[in-house]
Amino acid sequence: MTDKYSVAFLGLGHMGGPMAVNLVKAGYAVAGFDVVPAALEAARAAGVPVAASAAEAVSGADVVLTMFPSGRHVLDAYRGQDGQRGLLAAAKPGSIFLDCSTINVDEAREAAALAVDAGHRSVDAPVSGGVVGAEAGTLTFMVGGEPGDFYDVLPLLEVMGKRVVHCGAHGAGQAAKICNNLILGVSMIAVSEAFVLGEKLGLSHQALFDVASAASGQCWALTTNCPVPGPVPTSPANRDYQPGFAGALMAKDLRLAVNALQSTGVAARMGPLAAEIYGTFAAGEGAGRDFSGIITDIRDRSGRSSLGGPDDAADSAPPSAAQSAPFSAAHDDGSPE
Ligand code: NAD
Repeated sequence: MTDKYSVAFLGLGHMGGPMAVNLVKAGYAVAGFDVVPAALEAARAAGVPVAASAAEAVSGADVVLTMFPSGRHVLDAYRGQDGQRGLLAAAKPGSIFLDCSTINVDEAREAAALAVDAGHRSVDAPVSGGVVGAEAGTLTFMVGGEPGDFYDVLPLLEVMGKRVVHCGAHGAGQAAKICNNLILGVSMIAVSEAFVLGEKLGLSHQALFDVASAASGQCWALTTNCPVPGPVPTSPANRDYQPGFAGALMAKDLRLAVNALQSTGVAARMGPLAAEIYGTFAAGEGAGRDFSGIITDIRDRSGRSSLGGPDDAADSAPPSAAQSAPFSAAHDDGSPE
């Protein structure tokens, strides 16, 4: 295969649409398809050649790339439904099935086994970096699959992303994604609880940030996606928690993490609790807010009493030079999703 495969791009939603555009701009022959006409039309308007059906899109394609909401969508599309031929049957033998959706590890392994049994090759490559990363071509890909298949799709992934990591065998990309987001979900809750506790104890946000960002509390949830406005001007807290990485997506990824914790028998406590907390958050208006907005729930449930400090340090004056001078923190603009 050359590095200019023909690509069937299925699932032209928030992520898939701009990813397909980047492939077209890089000179790949793309045939896009989405079951939702509006998504198909938006992709066509953005310059992506589209097909009239999934079967038409995959016929003749070297790579069948899927970017779907869930594992159920992936497995149903691979197998076919309601008497319709699935993607596995419609694709030419030896195609690479490249699934970039975020799905259960078990589903990813099942999808890979189906593809291999049907005479194809399979790579799971979920992403982080969000819609902004999809548009800019700066996604991170976490890849599972045979090394040879990984190297075959690498040039294509490098068009859509700035970092591509081969994590291991089939399903390893999904495994890496949910392990990372398990860390992220739990750490965001911990950082948010610490800020609310700091408010109760009379600490300014800046003072806590200046200490923790240079001490053992340092983490991405604090130094890049800081859940209070001020210390990190680019964090979603400064724009009323507009995502960023939406609460609904964090809730989804934590559900996937809990599924994996249960199926592997890991005696985890924090992961399931974080999944429950974000599940509740996403059931309300948190679904469309940045996941760092969880701090407002914690604050709301904490009442207004304090132990000797201002009730709402969130509104306190900017820190004095003395408060912030001893510490400095490096900020970056990375996005998890
Ligand atoms: P989306 O719902 O906007 O897009 C998914 C698209 O797939 C939809 O347009 C849908 O119509 C289409 N689709 C479903 N079944 C199909 C089929 N059989 N054939 C053709 N099209 C089909 O979702 P999204 O935000 O683009 O996310 C896609 C995946 O990427 C999800 O698994 C999500 O978890 C993951 N992800 C999303 C983000 C994000 O910030 N949105 C970030 C990282 C990962």
